[in-house]
Amino acid sequence: MKILLIAIEKNGLVDHPSLCALGGAKILCQKTSAELHILVMGKNSGEAAKKLKTVSGAKRFAAPDCGDCVAERWASALFPFIRDGGYKTVIAPATSEGRDFMPRLAALMDSGMVSDVCGFEGELFLRYAHAGNAIAKVAVNTPTALVTLRETSFEPPEIGEGAAEVEELTLKGDSLGSRVVERREHRTGRPPLGESKCVVGLGRGIKNQEGLKLAEEIADLMGAAIGGSRAAVDEGFIQNDLQIGQTGKNIAPKLYFAFGISGAIQHTAGIKDAKVIAAINKDPEAPIFSVADYGLVADFSAAAPVLLQKLKNL
Ligand SMILES: Cc1cc2nc3c(=O)[nH]c(=O)nc-3n(C[C@H](O)[C@H](O)[C@H](O)COP(=O)(O)OP(=O)(O)OC[C@H]3O[C@@H](n4cnc5c(N)ncnc54)[C@H](O)[C@@H]3O)c2cc1C
Repeated sequence: MKILLIAIEKNGLVDHPSLCALGGAKILCQKTSAELHILVMGKNSGEAAKKLKTVSGAKRFAAPDCGDCVAERWASALFPFIRDGGYKTVIAPATSEGRDFMPRLAALMDSGMVSDVCGFEGELFLRYAHAGNAIAKVAVNTPTALVTLRETSFEPPEIGEGAAEVEELTLKGDSLGSRVVERREHRTGRPPLGESKCVVGLGRGIKNQEGLKLAEEIADLMGAAIGGSRAAVDEGFIQNDLQIGQTGKNIAPKLYFAFGISGAIQHTAGIKDAKVIAAINKDPEAPIFSVADYGLVADFSAAAPVLLQKLKNL
């Protein structure tokens, strides 16, 4: 039995969500005694695949001709390779790219697909349902199952030294008229939200620019990433790629600070894998306190300067 991981190259390296998917793929291979193949996609995928020393025995491929992700092109290029490869499971990270090309690939293959998988149980794929309040166990009854793995549910393996052997494939797809016009990377100067060990989450309760400044100072003193609720996006406190939750990013920091966040289920769906949650909210009944490990019932504008001073003293 063979499992294929489709990993994604960014700036010459396999990206973090793909490394987490690699961690998940290794678990599934161990459980099912399957052989692991890794196909790195992206313009510089050959270079990135060589640096992937972690998985001894795994066959490595790269598909530089497919270029960067255009879902139509990647799906049509991958289709014959996967159909002829006899793979039982095809895994990709549940990123915007994975969420884009995998369903197209599943449709071309007429295969079952499960997205945002957070674990495995025998032949079943586990995924959160009802904004994380239940776990669905999903069976796929087509010969090949396509799955995307949730970044925060799997640990990336250690990357080794040296170069590995990589077979470069000539896969060419049809982009059906779609093309990437421009890619704009939003740089915050802070750690990436999905990878940071500490995240400061902003909600509508921080109120204004003054509150935002205080929260940013706290985040910077703690070396934390900043994210927040949809309301914080609506208020213009953060850009929408920093939204945490059901329709935003999933995060798994060691410490999550929720400042003025109510704790709606659509938000808490994205912080399920946070290890410790600390919340400041002026409403003692706010739902965030039912998931928080530490809570402070206080007005943020009064509590934040005290917290800031304490951090400065440290
Ligand atoms: C389909 C769907 C998908 C969604 N996806 C997401 C998602 O991915 N992520 C997400 O976050 N939301 C999502 N939402 C929106 C979600 O339901 C909530 O509306 C949103 O999370 C609320 O954000 P908030 O807690 O910052 O704001 P509010 O609900 O306005 O809460 C503000 C909180 O701040 C507190 N507060 C007010 N003033 C102060 C003060 N001075 N000091 C301290 N505390 C104060 C209040 O007590 C309150 O608890 C989604 C909704 C839908 C319908």
